[in-house]
Formats: sequence, C-alpha cells, structure tokens
Amino acid sequence: MSEKRKALVVVDVQNDFCPGGSLAVANGDEVVAPLNKLMKEFLDRGEPVFKTRDWHPAQAKHFAANGGMWPIHCVQNTSGAEFHKDLSDDPRITIISKGVNESSDGYSGFDGTNLAQLLREQDVKEVWVGGLATDYCVKHTVVDGLRAGFEVKALADAMRPVNLKPSDGKQAVEEMREAGAEIVGSTSKVAGLS
Ligand SMILES: [Zn+2]
Repeated sequence: MSEKRKALVVVDVQNDFCPGGSLAVANGDEVVAPLNKLMKEFLDRGEPVFKTRDWHPAQAKHFAANGGMWPIHCVQNTSGAEFHKDLSDDPRITIISKGVNESSDGYSGFDGTNLAQLLREQDVKEVWVGGLATDYCVKHTVVDGLRAGFEVKALADAMRPVNLKPSDGKQAVEEMREAGAEIVGSTSKVAGLS
C-alpha cells in the first residue's frame, strides 16, 4: 500500500457559530451530519482526526467591543465555545484551541498551534478540511495547510459561510482552489445558494 496518509480537520463546529449562537452561520448545523460520518470513517481506518475550536479570552481584540470586527463569541469555558451537542466525540480526537491570546484572531487552525507538527509526526500528507465558517476559519485553515506543505481537500458539502457579503462563501472557495486545494463536493452549498 502506497496510499497517502490522511487526516481530517473539523473546524469550529461550536455553539456560537450554529443557529442560536452569538455569531451564527446560517444553516451552520448542517455540517454536523456529514462531518460525523467522515470522523467515523477516518477513526475506523485509524487515521487522525482533529477538531479546532475558537477559544478566545473575554478581552480579545478580535471582538468589536475591544476594537475588532466581531460580536463576542467562543469565550473560553463558556457554553458558546462548546462543540455542537450533536458533533461526535471520541477520545481519539485531538482538540486544537486557537485564538487563545488577546492579540490573536485565530482564524487558522495552524495559527499559533502545534497542528502542523502533530500532522507531520503522524506522517500525514493529505488533510481534509470542513466546518465553520467557509469564508474565515475554514479558508484560513485550508490555505495555511497548503503553505505548510500538505495536500488539502476542502469539503464543500461540509462547510457554510458567514457571508457578510453574499458572495463571500463563493469567493472563499475560489481562493482555496487558487491556493491549490482540491474542492470536493457541491459548491452551491458553500456559496450559500442551496
Ligand atoms: Zn473568533
């Protein structure tokens, strides 16, 4: 077998990014089912699975109240920062916390974390990425994964955009593709057109 070793990175499927949360992504909870299915498949094959989470201090500059651009979300140890209740959990899954400092946005799962190191230690060549939100943390994680030297598959059916502008999700997919990611699945959902 010469098949490339793969890993799955599930980005920020947290309460505050799902319907009812403080920074809710429209239909954000629709990513739970496809990602649960993929997590099971990866774990069943013995392939590594990671979940990233926004994990901000209350005083983060990322928040509009402190000079940033976002409503307060995913503050450390609050219910908004917890993973969606239906997202699969398993002791084999590694949690990556990001945006943990007052000065960091933490859009990318690779920003200020040991994710790249953990992937290399496990000889991973190809990283599959889905989650929330397409136009911020998913895009930045995909692009940084490519920069770190991994092949990246972006899971179009398992991501949803914030869409501050209606075209943001669609544009983010184009940026991921141009950066070298392979886009897998239906991009109509990524664009928020489903
Ligand atoms: Zn954040």
